[in-house]
Amino acid sequence: MMNALHVPQVNIAITDSDEKFPVRRIFCIGRNYAAHAAEMGHKPDSEAPFYFTKSADAIVSSGSAVTYPPRCKELHHEIELVVAIGRAGNNILPLNVPEHIFGYAVGIDLTRRDLQAEAKSKGRPWDAAKNFDQSAPISEIHPVSAVGHPTTGRIWLSVNDEVRQDGNIDEMIWSVAESVAVISTYGEIYQGDLVYTGTPAGVGPLVPGDQVRGGIEGVGNISIDIQGV
Ligand code: MN
Repeated sequence: MMNALHVPQVNIAITDSDEKFPVRRIFCIGRNYAAHAAEMGHKPDSEAPFYFTKSADAIVSSGSAVTYPPRCKELHHEIELVVAIGRAGNNILPLNVPEHIFGYAVGIDLTRRDLQAEAKSKGRPWDAAKNFDQSAPISEIHPVSAVGHPTTGRIWLSVNDEVRQDGNIDEMIWSVAESVAVISTYGEIYQGDLVYTGTPAGVGPLVPGDQVRGGIEGVGNISIDIQGV
């Protein structure tokens, strides 16, 4: 007898709650901090917001060991504020975006930078560079009732206790409200959607054995360890 096909729902823990946040889609904003855009060779402020996506099953919870991914020689960390959508909407005005937000989390947009560079040079999609197993580590989700709508606060990431990324979420080129509003013009956003909102400067390589720690002041913390295959 064949077993019924079963695909588990991806869920994220919610702080101080027995409920879980069910993940639907993952949007990621690119080049949203001027210093990071510059370090990647782009002129900040000269582009409209753009996004790429990751699959829901790229989620891995804080505290996990993340296996160094295949086909990669340069895995990079990108610490990011993550928005968890709690109410559907399309063509949302920036001033109305807060009503659609359930909470916030700290995420890491893991990136196969070597594959991204190849994709860019050949004009190909970024999927292989950005969307792979365990490419979206995330903390617990902190509800708006606990953390409000943070617009300022230190965002940092360290590798083996050495601080690599150290910025402030007030340095975003497009605010959370502007980013979510733009995404909602391309189609309806929905409860369960996540938005990774871009990374500050200081991205860099990870190797097996690295202990990665990060946080956003007023939101929370994240930790992952990189392990070899
Ligand atoms: Mn990113």
